[in-house]
Amino acid sequence: MSLTLFDTAARALVPFEPLVPGRVGIYTCGPTVYNRVHIGNLRTFVWEDVLCRSLRLLGLSVVQVMNLTDIDDKTIRGAVAAGVPLREFTERHAATFFEDLAALNVTPADVYPRATEHVPEMVELVRRLAERGHTYESDGSIWFRIASFPAYGRLSRIDPGAMRRGQRVADDEYEKEDVRDFALWKGAKEGEPESALWDTSLGRGRPGWHLECSAMSMKYLGETLDLHTGAVDNMFPHHENEIAQSEGATGKPFVRTWLHGEHLVVDGEKMAKSKGNFFTLPDVVARGFTARQVRYLLLSVPYRQKLNFTFDGLRAAASALERLDSLDARLAERAAGAPPAGDGAFAGRAAEASAGFRAALEDDLNSAAALGALFSFVKEANAALEAGHLAPGDAAAGRALLREADAVLGVLPKDEEATLAAEVEARIEARQQARKRRDFRTADAIRDELAARGILLEDTPQGVRWRRKG
Ligand code: AMP
Ligand code: ZN
Repeated sequence: MSLTLFDTAARALVPFEPLVPGRVGIYTCGPTVYNRVHIGNLRTFVWEDVLCRSLRLLGLSVVQVMNLTDIDDKTIRGAVAAGVPLREFTERHAATFFEDLAALNVTPADVYPRATEHVPEMVELVRRLAERGHTYESDGSIWFRIASFPAYGRLSRIDPGAMRRGQRVADDEYEKEDVRDFALWKGAKEGEPESALWDTSLGRGRPGWHLECSAMSMKYLGETLDLHTGAVDNMFPHHENEIAQSEGATGKPFVRTWLHGEHLVVDGEKMAKSKGNFFTLPDVVARGFTARQVRYLLLSVPYRQKLNFTFDGLRAAASALERLDSLDARLAERAAGAPPAGDGAFAGRAAEASAGFRAALEDDLNSAAALGALFSFVKEANAALEAGHLAPGDAAAGRALLREADAVLGVLPKDEEATLAAEVEARIEARQQARKRRDFRTADAIRDELAARGILLEDTPQGVRWRRKG
């Protein structure tokens, strides 16, 4: 593996190696669960899924943690407006978020920690920061003193000196010493609902937004993370503040590689709730598109480029998927023709396409180039099928390539999986029958046929098990 990723802090492509060989810890900033996410938000979650799936394809094991922000001004306002306790309100929106992720075939993260369930960890982090002189109290709230952390601004390359300083300012209804400082802990205010307040050693109140990501990432992934991801708008102030909080408390580097994805835009403008230019996944489905078409469109543009959303783009995604589906069906038909005669020249093309696909992903997750490698193969495979040049073994190798690519793309129809499983089970049964009648040639041929399709058989005392190669 020679994976390079664009590290935002270095503003350069850097070779990626996890701290613990073979195992990657990733923290991704999750949604604020106060409404249904739009497809702009979902673009970010889809490329982060492509990242995790690519790392797995490249042979690494991945632990992904994604927070749910279930306590902040927006969730509190929403709960009050809906007249329900905070938790009831945020659970509704967490549920639709998970529905959207499932519809888009996003592999679930290993942990989805909720801020409200990690208040003790956040309080402890503030205590550590206080011990090292990074905090002060004002007006019942606790602030991070940016002047105490000289590295502030390193990630976003914002010059903290250029921000107004030194004067006492009232911002967001809280008193602080310096306009640059941010709230770690917000003291309770008149009219805030009971369900959004905690009694802690810091006083009665609630955490500031940034604190949760430092506390929860370090709890689940350790004090130094391999990868931390988000969209470009997260870089400042959110990620800058996370660095200040984490490194201020631990004295250790917080993140080894920062990845930031560009926005999904409409007519050149960021898709945003506040601009009213947004579509949710159900909005797009109501117009006759499918979630997998949306997924394909979202992942087809490399994550560091802006993605201009149009319905024409979705139609193009639909036709690209039709080409994949149709080749897959034709190859399946061909592969079932007879036991393979062995890998022909065309299986070699599948191997080349596989190498091209992987190399593109290793190049900072260049999904467009990866799809390019795949579709060159699709074109050649269609031509070979038409010319009758494709042996069943070649067709099987072609199908294995589609499956391999789909481990990252996640766009082939789900029922394909079921079909494949049924096909494999049927072949295993045929092999068992052959063995019973001591026809070992046929039994071996079936095993080899499955191996050519990337399926390995294992004889266990409980019967025959199968798994995918690699
Ligand atoms: P918000 O609920 O607006 O704070 O969005 C949650 C996160 O989704 C943001 O912090 C970004 O990481 C991401 N996001 C929001 N809008 C877009 C967009 N138009 N394109 C890509 N990602 C976005
Ligand atoms: Zn975050």
